[in-house]
This record gives sequence, C-alpha cells and structure tokens, in this order.
Amino acid sequence: MKTITKDKIVYTFDKENVPVERISSGETIRIETCDCFTDTVTSEDDLMMDLDFSKINPATGPIYVEDAMPGDVLKVEILKIDLEPLGIMAVGEGLGLLGEHVTSAQTKLFPITNDTVDMFGLTLPLTKMIGVIGTAPAGEAVPNGTPDEHGGNMDCTIIKEGSTLYLPVGVEGALFALGDLHALMGDGEISVSGAEAAGAVEVKISVIKDYALPTPSVLTKDFFATLSSAETMEAASKDASKKMIDFLVSNANLHFNEAYMLLSAAGKLAVCQVVDPLLTMRMELNREYLDTLMGKEWSK
Ligand code: CA
Ligand code: CA
Repeated sequence: MKTITKDKIVYTFDKENVPVERISSGETIRIETCDCFTDTVTSEDDLMMDLDFSKINPATGPIYVEDAMPGDVLKVEILKIDLEPLGIMAVGEGLGLLGEHVTSAQTKLFPITNDTVDMFGLTLPLTKMIGVIGTAPAGEAVPNGTPDEHGGNMDCTIIKEGSTLYLPVGVEGALFALGDLHALMGDGEISVSGAEAAGAVEVKISVIKDYALPTPSVLTKDFFATLSSAETMEAASKDASKKMIDFLVSNANLHFNEAYMLLSAAGKLAVCQVVDPLLTMRMELNREYLDTLMGKEWSK
C-alpha cells in the first residue's frame, strides 16, 4: 500500500496544486496527517491567538486519481483512522459560537488511552473522524478552513471509519486531500475545535462515472446523508434537503411533494458544524428506505 507522509501538505484545495502521488481507481492508500495546528502546539502554554494562522488546517496531498474527470464522482471509503495518543483543544477570545464569553484563551492537552479520553472527570469514548477532506474545485482555490461543494472543512461527525464519502470531481485527477483528524468532536463543534490529533487514515478511492449521485454525501451503515455548506444554517439546511429531494425525484419515482413529505416524515436534519467560514448541515435518510425505493444498487 502506498503511504503519503505528512510533510506533503497543502493549505488550499486548488487545481494548481502539484500532485504528490498518483493512484489508480480502486486503490487503497494510507495518508498520514498533522493535527490542525500543523503539529505546532506542544504544551498548554501554546495559545490559539499566538499561532501562525497561515499554518492552520493542513491537508495531506493532493493525490491524483487516474481516470477521474470533471463531472465524475469520487467514492472515498474510510477504512481505518489511527490517531496519535494526544488530543488538543483550544479556546480563544471571539472564537466559536460563544466566543464573546471567552475571557482568556486556553489550550488543553488530553492523553488518549484505551480508545478513550479523560476529560473533566468523565471518560469519553473516542469519536474518531476527519474534519477536512475534499477535491480541488474547477474554479477558484478554496482555503482548507472553508467547507463548500468540493468538501473541505465540513467537520461532520459521520465522516468516520466505516463511512463512504462521495465527493465531486472538479478537475482531472480530482486532486484529493485530507487532514484535521479529531479524537472527539460534538455535532456543531461549538468552541471551534474538536480534540485535535495527528494520525493516519486508510482510504479506498474509486471513480464513479455517469451517475448523478449528490455530493458531498455520506453513506453509513444506517443512513445516507446529503451535505451542504452556506453562510447560514437555514441556507445550508435548504440546500442539503433539496439535494436529497432531487435525488429521490430523479431515481425513486417520487414527485417533489412526495419526497418533501417523506423527508418531513422520516428524514433527519442535523448539524455538522456552525463555526467555520461557511456552516455545514446534512439531511439524513435511512438507507433501507432508499434501498426499497431505488433497489440496493443505488449506492455504488
Ligand atoms: Ca475543522
Ligand atoms: Ca479541527
């Protein structure tokens, strides 16, 4: 298996970035990642405000996927997430949903032991996930801190081991990259960081052709979720829901009103994060319902 080392990083999803590796469709690779501070936080004295903000949210890559052409869908199966045994959290004045209440910046280091993190008298099971993951957009470069249609900093708790992420291919080769692993993150990520950790991810990457699967989207063992990022939660909610409805109308022989009612009756609108430059929401629907309506081969 090819391994991409974590010295090969970018801070933007940009069609001009030079690929650091080429893989075939269907290949499994291991991608090592720095933490979101590019491994520069080494003690609780390193505060968020003192960090070099040009070195936030590195992603390892980009990786050129053979046969990936604009308009295709990139299927990313997340096989394994390994973390270094240290989680880092930081708060700072003005940062996050309630930043106006933060009176002094603080950094805390949390050792990871036995797949748990001890925090404030609690033993929390790890919720390992990937914060930044995406492809290069066809248009202007997007900084890694911003989520959008290409993926990026979606900070979505279901982008985890065992999930499959579907991303758009904007440019030839897709130029895939990922980083910003979390040992823990709650839905919303309200203080602006999860328990940030360096680590490595094994992914199997395949190109899907001639199939208008909505992107970005995530398939877990239980449900399918369409994601959207926008300036407000309302706008992101509308777009995430519309993506699912359009998919049902195109593939499940439902009228708009019927798909609208189905999501209102059985969908789950959920928050990914509310602290990045665009906010990310998702609409989840039980995958068994999609299997029943479309046949099991709908997910490729
Ligand atoms: Ca993030
Ligand atoms: Ca993060």
